[in-house]
Amino acid sequence: MAELIDGHGRRVTYVRISVTDRCNLRCVYCMPEDQKFRPLPHLMSREEVARAARLLASFGIEKIRLTGGEPTTRPDLPGIVSDLSAIGFPGGIALSTNGVLFPRMAHELLAAGLTRVNISLDSAEAEHFRKIARRDHFQPVRDAIDLALSLPFEAVKLNAVVIRSFNDDQVLPLAAMTFGKNLHVRFIEFMPFGDNEWTEGDWVGWEEIRGRLELEGYELTPTPKSPVAGPADEFRVVSPRGAHMGTVGFITPVSDRFCDTCNRMRLTQDGFLKGCLFGHNDVDLLRPMRMGASDEELAALVRRAAEAKEQRHGMFVGMDKGWLPLHNRNMSEVGG
Ligand code: SAM
Ligand code: SF4
Repeated sequence: MAELIDGHGRRVTYVRISVTDRCNLRCVYCMPEDQKFRPLPHLMSREEVARAARLLASFGIEKIRLTGGEPTTRPDLPGIVSDLSAIGFPGGIALSTNGVLFPRMAHELLAAGLTRVNISLDSAEAEHFRKIARRDHFQPVRDAIDLALSLPFEAVKLNAVVIRSFNDDQVLPLAAMTFGKNLHVRFIEFMPFGDNEWTEGDWVGWEEIRGRLELEGYELTPTPKSPVAGPADEFRVVSPRGAHMGTVGFITPVSDRFCDTCNRMRLTQDGFLKGCLFGHNDVDLLRPMRMGASDEELAALVRRAAEAKEQRHGMFVGMDKGWLPLHNRNMSEVGG
């Protein structure tokens, strides 16, 4: 089987496929209230996602994550998972979701072959949640977490973006959720996208978050990382309450600690293969697919996209003049 090696010698083993740009929340750091969505025919159909996935599997891609936008807004999501599962990805099929609609399809997704679930939750408290997500759906998300934990998924993780003076007071309550539950909470550094008005002052680095936990008596010990793991560094936790069942992790795109070992590419909902979240060397697979390209022609495009994968993300321009964010699509449009 061919391997997919990028232009900098890194092997690509993990692809995040965005299945929609639509969402039922409007998280302030991700999309504006009046976000415009692509016309539905511009999104990959279930069959097109499966064709792209078969192609990726032929390059030895081991793990797929389905993301968006909010993937559960697609009624055919269980069908997509079952197609991927039939193709076979040894590192599993994971889902990133905001959790709101997850309970409606959780059993179906599990039966279709979903192995891992990441649920986004940036606050452990309802009123705060509403300010961040601009929607009143805190309880359904909490219910989704409990349901996911009760089902035999390989892992249930919780993703929290931390923004200074907005939700950084939630670090401790969110980390506390790993006590007595097999839940893995990962803090994500806030990134600049589209029009989210990122400023350096809003950003809270992982070392500061870790320091805050340590001040509260949390002891963090690094856990070993699997070769198909995502970018998080995860830690076992002992707090004044005792040993926690779950772990705490950090995803540190702004501190920039993981480009050297990057094993990932992304497929956007409109069919572009992207080397980097902040990259511009995207290669279109969907239009050639719709124009009748053969598998060999599509395989050449996949190789071209890997060769063009950026060495490091260019999240900021003119670093010498301060951290001026580069203009980029919103996270929901790229596929988080
Ligand atoms: N809707 C799903 C969800 O919220 O999990 C999947 C898509 S969402 C774009 C994927 C992840 O990107 C979420 O964990 C979200 O918190 C994160 N995200 C979105 N905008 C971000 C930003 N500006 N900085 C850091 N993470 C961000
Ligand atoms: Fe929707 Fe996820 Fe973006 Fe929030 S982070 S607006 S849930 S896509």
